Amino acid sequence: MSVTLSVLASGSSGNCALLRMGDFALMIDAGVSARRITCALQELGVALQALCGVLITHEHGDHVAGALALGRAGVPLYMNGQTFEVLRQKWGERMPRAKIFQNGEVFNLGVARVLPVPVAHDAYDPVAFRIELGGRVIGFATDIGHPSRLVVERFRGCDILVLESNHDVGLLQADGKRPWSVKQRILSRHGHLSNEVAARLARELVTERTRHLVLGHLSGDCNSLDVVREAFAALLSQADQRGLGVTVIEPGVVCWRHVVCDTQQGECIPCR
Ligand SMILES: [Zn+2]
Ligand SMILES: [Zn+2]
Repeated sequence: MSVTLSVLASGSSGNCALLRMGDFALMIDAGVSARRITCALQELGVALQALCGVLITHEHGDHVAGALALGRAGVPLYMNGQTFEVLRQKWGERMPRAKIFQNGEVFNLGVARVLPVPVAHDAYDPVAFRIELGGRVIGFATDIGHPSRLVVERFRGCDILVLESNHDVGLLQADGKRPWSVKQRILSRHGHLSNEVAARLARELVTERTRHLVLGHLSGDCNSLDVVREAFAALLSQADQRGLGVTVIEPGVVCWRHVVCDTQQGECIPCR
């Protein structure tokens, strides 16, 4: 059966992705409004009630903006204990019930097996997700600060890998709008991966098994599609001969980009 990854939103203004196989549908982060998520799901032909759950990586607004409304509408939210606590403080009595997972422990979610991997990012207890679905491994590694050894071990050789390529260091340093402290935060080991670091990491993570690399969480004003493609030039030049599809998700817009991974054929086709 085919595994389909649809990116509904990616970047500092919101992150949300949908993973599907047959009737199974699982959301990763809900960082845009519930209204936008519902519209996107309608367009994709997926009912809100059909969602098995939403996996939350961390409590930053660009990952949870729509999660409260989805949770209150009855969609199960999955997060670790620290993230639950910080969201409970933020949302107060409106906090929906959540299913709590432990970092580093695999759990079953419908037909998927999910491993939350702790990452270094300036949130309470951020994680990335390694998801096994229909014999495929799908990695979601955004907001990861720096490429820790654990990240390399857990995300090497995924069939589909969603990796952040947040900013260009030169563009960020030259940016006149951000205060120095914010720049320091982004550049730190608990911020976001620059294009250069992401490209170096991708060389370690992408193996013969990897069919598709999705580059996302691009900064709206300190990055661009062309700058990312330049940083990944070495990998991109070999992509065709390796049978590797690479999709760079445009920043600052809510979009619907699909990657279909056919488990029978072992092929990934970017549809849109
Ligand atoms: Zn974050
Ligand atoms: Zn983020």
